Amino acid sequence: MAKISKGKSKVTVYPDWCKGCGVCVEFCPKKVLELDEHGKSSVVREEDCIHCGFCELHCPDFAIVVTDKETGEPNNS
Ligand code: SF4
Ligand code: SF4
Repeated sequence: MAKISKGKSKVTVYPDWCKGCGVCVEFCPKKVLELDEHGKSSVVREEDCIHCGFCELHCPDFAIVVTDKETGEPNNS
């Protein structure tokens, strides 16, 4: 079960792996992500992230990682 801790998450997108499918943008309940002008996912409201892990779970290219800002631990550890 993912812990919900708004404002304590670090969201990292690896643009080389992102193919711009938009799944993460669609699934994020807090609109943390948007597609940028290059068609890649971009973190625009990291402070609103509730660490639900949906983006990481649903990205078909493993291009997103959500970690705890303080500990660096992954989402579901
Ligand atoms: S789900 Fe993954 S591949 Fe698709 S836009 Fe988001 S980061 Fe990119
Ligand atoms: S972990 Fe949840 S709230 Fe945070 S960016 Fe991903 S989908 Fe959005």
